[in-house]
Amino acid sequence: MNSSPPRRRGAADPVAPAATATTPELGAGTPDPSRRRFFKTAAATAAATALPLAAHAAASAPRSAPGDAHYDVAVIGGGFAGVTAARELAQRGAKVVLLEARNRLGGRTFYSNFGDKKVELGGTWIHYSQPHVWAEVMRYGMKIAESPGVAHPERVLWMSAGKVLEIPVMENWALLEDALKRFHADTGKVFARPFVPGLPAAGRALDHLSIADRMAQIEMSPAQRDLMNAMMATNCHGRIDTAAYTEMLRWWSLVDGDAARLLYSCARYKLKDGTAALIERMAEDGGFETRLATAVAEVRQSATGVTLVTEEEQRIDARYAVVSVPVNTAGMIEFSPPLHSAKQAMAKEHHAGKGHKLYLKVKGRLETLLFFAPETELFTMVFTEQPGADGGVLVAFGPPAGGKVDLNDPKVVEPFIRKFLPHLTVEQVLGYDWALDPYSQGTWCTYRPKQFGAYLDDLRAREGRLFFAGADIATGWRGFIDGAIESGLQVGQAVAVELRREGGGRSA
Ligand SMILES: Cc1cc2nc3c(=O)[nH]c(=O)nc-3n(C[C@H](O)[C@H](O)[C@H](O)COP(=O)(O)OP(=O)(O)OC[C@H]3O[C@@H](n4cnc5c(N)ncnc54)[C@H](O)[C@@H]3O)c2cc1C
Repeated sequence: MNSSPPRRRGAADPVAPAATATTPELGAGTPDPSRRRFFKTAAATAAATALPLAAHAAASAPRSAPGDAHYDVAVIGGGFAGVTAARELAQRGAKVVLLEARNRLGGRTFYSNFGDKKVELGGTWIHYSQPHVWAEVMRYGMKIAESPGVAHPERVLWMSAGKVLEIPVMENWALLEDALKRFHADTGKVFARPFVPGLPAAGRALDHLSIADRMAQIEMSPAQRDLMNAMMATNCHGRIDTAAYTEMLRWWSLVDGDAARLLYSCARYKLKDGTAALIERMAEDGGFETRLATAVAEVRQSATGVTLVTEEEQRIDARYAVVSVPVNTAGMIEFSPPLHSAKQAMAKEHHAGKGHKLYLKVKGRLETLLFFAPETELFTMVFTEQPGADGGVLVAFGPPAGGKVDLNDPKVVEPFIRKFLPHLTVEQVLGYDWALDPYSQGTWCTYRPKQFGAYLDDLRAREGRLFFAGADIATGWRGFIDGAIESGLQVGQAVAVELRREGGGRSA
């Protein structure tokens, strides 16, 4: 947006990748502030770490004649929102081109190799109570796997006042459930219907509260407080004093106030063949043209159409555009005329999700377990992905590291793991720092206090021939894969209606 000038070739990156060792794609210890070079390096590393990108190669094959540069719709961004919108429109007969800055589809989902295994470095878990993504699972016959550390943990441990505590699983659960119920006492009055767009009036009075503010209003034992701190810091994937209480109220409403469903919705069921398999099926089904490694730098609109200019100075003309980039990155595109002030403000402020997620290969007996620690620690939630008598795999979530800690160094993370399980050795670690990636600049979306009430309606609003999509502006499971698909479906439908109304083309 025009408030923050677009950074063309060689310009400074909006996020300073200070400690690059935390981001394997940046290469070992070689700071590189340029987006272009980031992705050259990323491409090289992706060749080593990502799946044989059959999915993405297939998706990148043009599905309509690339020589004909005038499209019905240009979609900016190839995450789940953009791919859904592109598929919906192409299936209705529109001529669609999807432009994606990275060398792959999937955006904040990234199915990669980790030793001899495959892991999800970004969005992973889905649930049957998430209607949009589950419909895609059923439609394409995708297979589901479970994460054992959440599905059926043998032990639950947590750290409080620097000590590791353990009580029977059900007692631990009761302690957490009690705190969650009291913390979310306002849910009923605010979010009786979580899929209704916008923040209801009752929510506006609470929207200034951070999660930390709300926690301070609740009576809890010190141990219970540390357990809640861990859970909330994981849920918002940021610092609890930077994330809005209303976001957690919304989640609680989406799970009907059921603590087990909250945990299961976030971390139990995943796609057996990875998110890449699903997005590949969706893209193939769409039959639209995809251009990878094509970052859009400018969007100009007139009364009759939209012109996009890429970083490589390519020009693409379309009747409409769907902008499905993360809200944290929208400031990197120059819009003419400028976008609504709310969109510009959000692009400057960013949402609060800036945490990290890592996989750890450990040596030593690994049970099926789940453990928590407050946000003052390196990780807030860790659980077993693969148990084993001689070792296995853990997945860990932690608060923003700010690029200051080398989270891909086993020696850095091992002391934390050993506080819980002193017999384990950490052999290998893999994470991806989404906060340093210029095309995400954050992880899943959690609004800061006041952003929900102040911005959401305007973030979602169409502007002339531009439509906006994305998990970050969804109504229901905002911040989730489900929200991305929800939003892509709605925007795909809205643009199709416009094309039909306008007529005069082959589309929709
Ligand atoms: C670590 C992590 C864990 C998560 N865990 C879960 C989970 O377990 N379950 C769940 O449901 N969700 C999870 N999420 C959230 C979920 O992955 C996202 O909300 C969702 O995938 C976002 O989809 P999207 O299409 O809205 O945005 P994105 O996936 O971010 O797609 C936007 C696309 O736009 C592209 N882009 C940006 N700028 C430009 C430009 N100028 N030109 C062209 N392209 C551009 C980006 O490269 C990107 O591909 C997680 C996210 C992260 C990061």
